[in-house]
Amino acid sequence: MSDDDREIDTLRKQIPSFACRSGCHDCCGPVTASSTEMARLPRKSSAARDAALAELSCTHLGENGCTVYDERPLICRLFGTTPRLPCPNGARPEVMIDPKVEQQIHWFARRTRQVLV
Ligand code: SF4
Ligand code: SF4
Repeated sequence: MSDDDREIDTLRKQIPSFACRSGCHDCCGPVTASSTEMARLPRKSSAARDAALAELSCTHLGENGCTVYDERPLICRLFGTTPRLPCPNGARPEVMIDPKVEQQIHWFARRTRQVLV
Protein backbone atom coordinates (compact mmCIF):
# COMPACT_ATOMS: atom_id res chain seq x y z
CA MET A 1 0.00 0.00 0.00
CA SER A 2 1.40 3.40 -0.99
CA ASP A 3 1.61 6.52 1.18
CA ASP A 4 -1.16 8.05 -0.92
CA ASP A 5 -3.37 4.99 -0.35
CA ARG A 6 -2.82 5.31 3.38
CA GLU A 7 -3.59 9.04 3.28
CA ILE A 8 -6.78 8.45 1.30
CA ASP A 9 -7.96 5.88 3.85
CA THR A 10 -7.10 8.19 6.76
CA LEU A 11 -8.97 11.10 5.17
CA ARG A 12 -11.98 8.96 4.29
CA LYS A 13 -12.38 7.92 7.91
CA GLN A 14 -12.56 11.55 9.01
CA ILE A 15 -15.32 12.61 6.61
CA PRO A 16 -18.67 12.47 8.38
CA SER A 17 -21.34 10.37 6.74
CA PHE A 18 -24.99 11.29 6.44
CA ALA A 19 -28.19 10.01 4.90
CA CYS A 20 -29.03 11.38 1.46
CA ARG A 21 -32.51 11.96 0.16
CA SER A 22 -33.70 8.58 -1.06
CA GLY A 23 -32.72 7.93 -4.68
CA CYS A 24 -31.06 11.33 -5.03
CA HIS A 25 -27.88 11.76 -7.03
CA ASP A 26 -28.24 15.45 -7.84
CA CYS A 27 -24.65 16.22 -6.86
CA CYS A 28 -23.12 13.58 -9.16
CA GLY A 29 -21.46 14.99 -12.23
CA PRO A 30 -17.99 15.31 -13.73
CA VAL A 31 -15.53 15.01 -10.83
CA THR A 32 -11.77 14.65 -10.60
CA ALA A 33 -9.70 12.31 -8.45
CA SER A 34 -6.09 11.37 -7.86
CA SER A 35 -4.62 8.57 -9.93
CA THR A 36 -4.42 6.49 -6.73
CA GLU A 37 -8.17 6.78 -6.28
CA MET A 38 -8.68 6.09 -9.99
CA ALA A 39 -6.70 2.85 -9.63
CA ARG A 40 -9.36 1.65 -7.18
CA LEU A 41 -12.18 2.24 -9.67
CA PRO A 42 -13.16 0.00 -12.58
CA ARG A 43 -11.74 1.21 -15.89
CA LYS A 44 -14.17 2.79 -18.29
CA SER A 45 -13.69 3.23 -22.02
CA SER A 46 -13.00 6.67 -23.43
CA ALA A 47 -16.33 6.45 -25.26
CA ALA A 48 -18.22 5.79 -22.01
CA ARG A 49 -16.44 8.63 -20.27
CA ASP A 50 -17.02 11.00 -23.19
CA ALA A 51 -20.72 10.10 -23.24
CA ALA A 52 -21.06 10.80 -19.51
CA LEU A 53 -19.18 14.07 -19.83
CA ALA A 54 -21.39 15.19 -22.73
CA GLU A 55 -24.33 14.88 -20.33
CA LEU A 56 -22.39 16.52 -17.49
CA SER A 57 -22.70 13.22 -15.67
CA CYS A 58 -20.28 10.75 -14.09
CA THR A 59 -19.41 7.52 -15.84
CA HIS A 60 -19.98 5.60 -12.58
CA LEU A 61 -23.51 6.84 -12.09
CA GLY A 62 -25.95 3.99 -12.68
CA GLU A 63 -29.73 3.78 -12.60
CA ASN A 64 -29.69 3.16 -8.88
CA GLY A 65 -27.02 5.70 -8.00
CA CYS A 66 -23.25 5.41 -7.63
CA THR A 67 -21.97 2.04 -8.80
CA VAL A 68 -18.64 2.49 -7.02
CA TYR A 69 -19.99 3.81 -3.74
CA ASP A 70 -17.45 2.10 -1.46
CA GLU A 71 -14.56 3.49 -3.49
CA ARG A 72 -16.03 6.83 -4.53
CA PRO A 73 -13.45 9.63 -4.61
CA LEU A 74 -12.80 12.04 -1.74
CA ILE A 75 -14.58 14.90 -3.49
CA CYS A 76 -17.80 12.84 -3.65
CA ARG A 77 -17.50 12.11 0.07
CA LEU A 78 -16.78 15.73 0.93
CA PHE A 79 -19.87 17.04 -0.83
CA GLY A 80 -22.57 18.01 1.65
CA THR A 81 -20.27 17.86 4.67
CA THR A 82 -18.98 21.44 4.44
CA PRO A 83 -20.72 24.81 4.06
CA ARG A 84 -18.47 25.33 1.04
CA LEU A 85 -20.07 22.36 -0.76
CA PRO A 86 -23.61 22.31 0.57
CA CYS A 87 -26.20 19.78 -0.48
CA PRO A 88 -28.87 21.58 -2.56
CA ASN A 89 -31.48 19.43 -0.86
CA GLY A 90 -30.48 20.29 2.67
CA ALA A 91 -28.98 16.90 3.59
CA ARG A 92 -26.01 17.11 5.96
CA PRO A 93 -24.33 15.27 8.77
CA GLU A 94 -25.14 16.23 12.33
CA VAL A 95 -21.62 17.58 12.71
CA MET A 96 -19.98 19.04 9.61
CA ILE A 97 -16.44 18.09 8.65
CA ASP A 98 -13.57 19.46 10.73
CA PRO A 99 -12.20 22.37 8.64
CA LYS A 100 -8.67 21.03 9.22
CA VAL A 101 -9.60 17.74 7.58
CA GLU A 102 -11.28 19.60 4.72
CA GLN A 103 -8.06 21.56 4.25
CA GLN A 104 -6.04 18.33 4.23
CA ILE A 105 -8.30 16.95 1.49
CA HIS A 106 -7.68 20.07 -0.62
CA TRP A 107 -3.93 19.82 0.02
CA PHE A 108 -4.01 16.17 -1.02
CA ALA A 109 -5.86 17.12 -4.23
CA ARG A 110 -3.33 19.85 -4.98
CA ARG A 111 -0.36 17.59 -4.31
CA THR A 112 -1.60 14.72 -6.49
CA ARG A 113 -2.28 14.64 -10.19
CA GLN A 114 -6.03 14.98 -10.59
CA VAL A 115 -7.76 13.34 -13.53
CA LEU A 116 -11.35 13.33 -14.71
CA VAL A 117 -13.14 10.29 -13.26
S1 SF4 B 1 -25.65 15.16 -0.98
FE1 SF4 B 1 -27.64 16.05 -1.44
S2 SF4 B 1 -27.62 16.32 -3.68
FE2 SF4 B 1 -26.00 14.88 -3.16
S3 SF4 B 1 -26.95 12.84 -3.35
FE3 SF4 B 1 -27.13 13.48 -1.18
S4 SF4 B 1 -29.15 14.41 -1.03
FE4 SF4 B 1 -28.62 14.37 -3.21
S1 SF4 C 1 -18.10 8.48 -8.39
FE1 SF4 C 1 -20.15 7.98 -7.66
S2 SF4 C 1 -20.63 9.54 -6.11
FE2 SF4 C 1 -18.92 10.31 -7.33
S3 SF4 C 1 -19.83 11.56 -8.96
FE3 SF4 C 1 -19.54 9.49 -9.76
S4 SF4 C 1 -21.48 8.43 -9.41
FE4 SF4 C 1 -21.44 10.26 -8.08
